[in-house]
Amino acid sequence: MRIAQLLQDSIVDGQGMRFVVFTQGCLHNCQGCHNPSTHDLNGGKEIAVADIVKKMASNPLTDGLTLSGGEPFLQVQDCAALAQQAHQLGLNVWCYSGYTYEQLTADNRYLPLLQQIDVLIDGPFKLYNKSLNLKWRGSTNQRVLDVGGSLATGKAVEYLL
Ligand code: SF4
Repeated sequence: MRIAQLLQDSIVDGQGMRFVVFTQGCLHNCQGCHNPSTHDLNGGKEIAVADIVKKMASNPLTDGLTLSGGEPFLQVQDCAALAQQAHQLGLNVWCYSGYTYEQLTADNRYLPLLQQIDVLIDGPFKLYNKSLNLKWRGSTNQRVLDVGGSLATGKAVEYLL
């Protein structure tokens, strides 16, 4: 898969200690994006999912995997495989996406990854909704969602912090 960066031991990309995969490639073009170097679909570098899993498994203190970007849903199959491996290691999976939950559920191509995510921070970053007081998200339009609960009930369910 194509990534911008791997980050170990993050405490700001979700609950607990996280292994973060910043995927490379994004088409959302959010004004004020904090990570514009991740937009180029041909940027970053290629790495095998198995190599990422080895790094992810190397720290027993890690609580979970966070997929960030870039846009993880541009690499559905690789991200889904990685998330599945994370679950097998006993880790939870959080994911940031510029798509809303409703956009993701409207397209079956996204399901393999969506089904592997525990918590989704959804929607594009909107500069005019920016707030520094939000936990784990940059703008007030973004939601922190319980994906299992959302898929079970057929509507977006907030993750209770
Ligand atoms: S979805 Fe994320 S990476 Fe993509 S443009 Fe928006 S803020 Fe930047």
